[in-house]
Amino acid sequence: MIARRRFLLAGAAVLAAGQAKAENTRQSKIKAVASFSILGDLVRNVGGDRVEVENLVGPNGDVHVYSPTPGDARKLAAANVVFVNGLGLEGWMTRLVVASNAKAPVVVVSKGITPRRMEEEEKFGHRIAIDPHAWQSVADAKSYVANIRDGLIAVDPAGKATYGANADAYLVKLDELENEVRVAIASIPADRRKIITTHDAFGYFGAAYGMAFIAPEGVSTEAEPSAKDVARIIIQIKKQKIPAVFLENTSDPRLMDQIAHETGASIGGTLYSDALSEPGGPAATYIEMMRHNIRQFTKALVG
Ligand SMILES: [Zn+2]
Repeated sequence: MIARRRFLLAGAAVLAAGQAKAENTRQSKIKAVASFSILGDLVRNVGGDRVEVENLVGPNGDVHVYSPTPGDARKLAAANVVFVNGLGLEGWMTRLVVASNAKAPVVVVSKGITPRRMEEEEKFGHRIAIDPHAWQSVADAKSYVANIRDGLIAVDPAGKATYGANADAYLVKLDELENEVRVAIASIPADRRKIITTHDAFGYFGAAYGMAFIAPEGVSTEAEPSAKDVARIIIQIKKQKIPAVFLENTSDPRLMDQIAHETGASIGGTLYSDALSEPGGPAATYIEMMRHNIRQFTKALVG
């Protein structure tokens, strides 16, 4: 009788220890690093309470020309999983991963989307550039979410149900968002659906929702536009009667001020292309960013 009782107590102790272990695992969150703020927000939505997300390039930062810091190397070294856009967006990432000695898997969230190829003119002829800005199409952002979910499950299989449920709930919100985008674009007269932005960040948006974007800078911000590029844009704006030019949160406004001044086009506002705003700003999440941008388009272009 006594022996049996002891056995039961021991069983209870094992059970308690098991619970404590589960509690500990739950408390120590999965450490995810995202290369830039827009991606960080998507990871946060899928990861929920199980994941702690840090961004490398923060709000209003230019991810194309970023210089990583020693702090970034430390973040990578401590990470369980790293999320990058890919498509050539983070040219600085490979070196940073090597320098930081990071062991975490690097998940490329654009895997599976159809990349947009752009022919760009350069000093010594043409080159084909891959456009990295796929997040500007909500349909592509939905693929990002699926890749993020799978990436998190791979490093934290115990969270599979949570990540699946979080992703499903967020995908419903993205469906609603995409619907809002379509309604907003439909409200703009077809012959006014053309916009000038500083760099070519809205190609996926334009292709998905039917709007023309023209930019003096290419799909990266690495090279400044030449005087010839700017002159060509000015002629195009006048000839095609493009109603508005837009600033971007990550770019110097002076070039667009000059173009607006020389063409008589109005400044339509500031678009969030490659980075979110600070928390509390007008584009603190991916969904707020997309809503902010379509509000700017309709404000400037609807009759
Ligand atoms: Zn960009």
